[in-house]
Amino acid sequence: MSESEKVDCVVIGAGVVGLAVARELAMAGREVVVLEATDMIGSETSSRNSEVIHAGIYYPKGSLKALFCVEGKKRLYQYCEERGIEFRRCTKLIVATLPDQIDTLKEIQGKASANGVGDLEMLSGNEATALEPELNCVSALLSPSTGIIDSHGVMLAYQGEAEDHGAMIAFMSPVIGGVVREDGIELEVGGETPMRLTCELLVNSAGLHAPTLLKQFDGFPSEHTPTAYYAKGNYYSLIGKSPFSRLIYPVPEPGGLGVHITIDLGGQARFGPDVEWVDDIEYSVDPERSDKFYDAVRTYWPGLEDGALVPGYCGIRPKITGPGEEAADFVVQGPRAHGIPGLVNLLGIESPGLTASLAIAERVREELNTN
Ligand SMILES: Cc1cc2nc3c(=O)[nH]c(=O)nc-3n(C[C@H](O)[C@H](O)[C@H](O)COP(=O)(O)OP(=O)(O)OC[C@H]3O[C@@H](n4cnc5c(N)ncnc54)[C@H](O)[C@@H]3O)c2cc1C
Repeated sequence: MSESEKVDCVVIGAGVVGLAVARELAMAGREVVVLEATDMIGSETSSRNSEVIHAGIYYPKGSLKALFCVEGKKRLYQYCEERGIEFRRCTKLIVATLPDQIDTLKEIQGKASANGVGDLEMLSGNEATALEPELNCVSALLSPSTGIIDSHGVMLAYQGEAEDHGAMIAFMSPVIGGVVREDGIELEVGGETPMRLTCELLVNSAGLHAPTLLKQFDGFPSEHTPTAYYAKGNYYSLIGKSPFSRLIYPVPEPGGLGVHITIDLGGQARFGPDVEWVDDIEYSVDPERSDKFYDAVRTYWPGLEDGALVPGYCGIRPKITGPGEEAADFVVQGPRAHGIPGLVNLLGIESPGLTASLAIAERVREELNTN
């Protein structure tokens, strides 16, 4: 292997967040290399999600999830509008199917309002079914600012702008280790052309792999490496036309938002994601889970017919807290936290990471103190 090459700034991972960070740093004048393990952008969680622009409703007040979601939503809508990336403010209904869930809706409305999302409207069952006649509910919360987006279009735009400002993406370049040195961080890159790269700034945006990768970095304090947990979210697709024009969510369940209906930009409906804690990263959807989907969906859509659901795809939430534990906030772990100059780790970037991507990128730049 040759001498270690020097670069200014490395981003590990070309998912939606890594690409947003690369764009942000390149536009701030840094020389950026993105190291991506696979042969394409967005090959993992960024292409295995619901493609929803979230409003910022459920997250604890003052959390990074709340702040970045609300800010990221505003910026993402504007970004898509300016660049002609497809999106639709289709709105969303969170539905109570039992009278004792109405208090939960009120709590959700209060939480949203504390996060600066003051536009949620409480509807009676009749008002909700006037909007969506196939719906069964006793009450619903309407979120006007929720929408859907072409997530691949967003990633291509981030990539294009990063490259226009000099960034380079090296595909098939998995980072397999690193050493913290006085003059920067030296990375060991595997793949077909193994090499070593020393960088001044490093952003670990490896998604599901970000915590485990840190264990391969000599000199990184182990007390700052969280345990990685994986919560698979399975989706089932609906055969035939969507009965709804809005996104329909039940009240949230532990670990996720409940089996909801999202619609893609082509008008196709899908149900999910559920929550299945797994030990390994593996993307098959178990057909045996369909019974649970029928039961969950029929609470708010009794008209769902037998045989109408087919296994679709799944994504895996990059969790840093395990089953039964409170969901962790996003972690943007910079030098002030771990003491290593020039290193930012992005940990636990689950939903709403797509919505929040531009806001996360800005925070990373601030952490690295580069303008
Ligand atoms: C089921 C599900 C539904 C979701 N729905 C929504 C939603 O509707 N709206 C929303 O806002 N958010 C949603 N999210 C969250 C959102 O998808 C993620 O927050 C976002 O995609 C994370 O992007 P990322 O770039 O951090 O990670 P990833 O997309 O996982 O990218 C990480 C990249 O790093 C690369 N990589 C990994 N290890 C290495 C290595 N050692 N060397 C080099 N490269 C490496 C991988 O190949 C990958 O390309 C959802 C998530 C899930 C799981």
